[in-house]
Amino acid sequence: MELTIKTTKHNELIDITEQVKSFIKDSKTEEGICSIFPMHTTTGIMINENEERLLEDMKEFLEQLAPINKKYKHDDIEKRNCPEDEPKNGHAHLKTILSGNSVTIPISKGELQLGTWQSIFLCQYDGPRTRTVILKILH
Ligand code: ZN
Repeated sequence: MELTIKTTKHNELIDITEQVKSFIKDSKTEEGICSIFPMHTTTGIMINENEERLLEDMKEFLEQLAPINKKYKHDDIEKRNCPEDEPKNGHAHLKTILSGNSVTIPISKGELQLGTWQSIFLCQYDGPRTRTVILKILH
């Protein structure tokens, strides 16, 4: 199954927990593992707390490690074999490394086994764009 998510900002942490929970419910899976996998190199996925000020801290933390205004080799578009309108998104690739490319969550008694404060975030670092996230259940 695929989730299609339209993002509205350049840098955005989007809580997709409810969408994943409804996918699990519709699948009628009682026991298994759900793998969540964004099909992009500038979009990460992570599990963390959905607290407004913490989300701002996370964005600041990532910005300090991979600032958008730093010079990246990847952004020398003229030195690469790619279309001229290729986005300059070196910072977004590096932020994606930090948040990761997939998460797996156990399913038990038909429910995702998330802790009280755990939410699933799609991490958009080079938006706004439409993003595809693969959801796969292993029984
Ligand atoms: Zn790129």
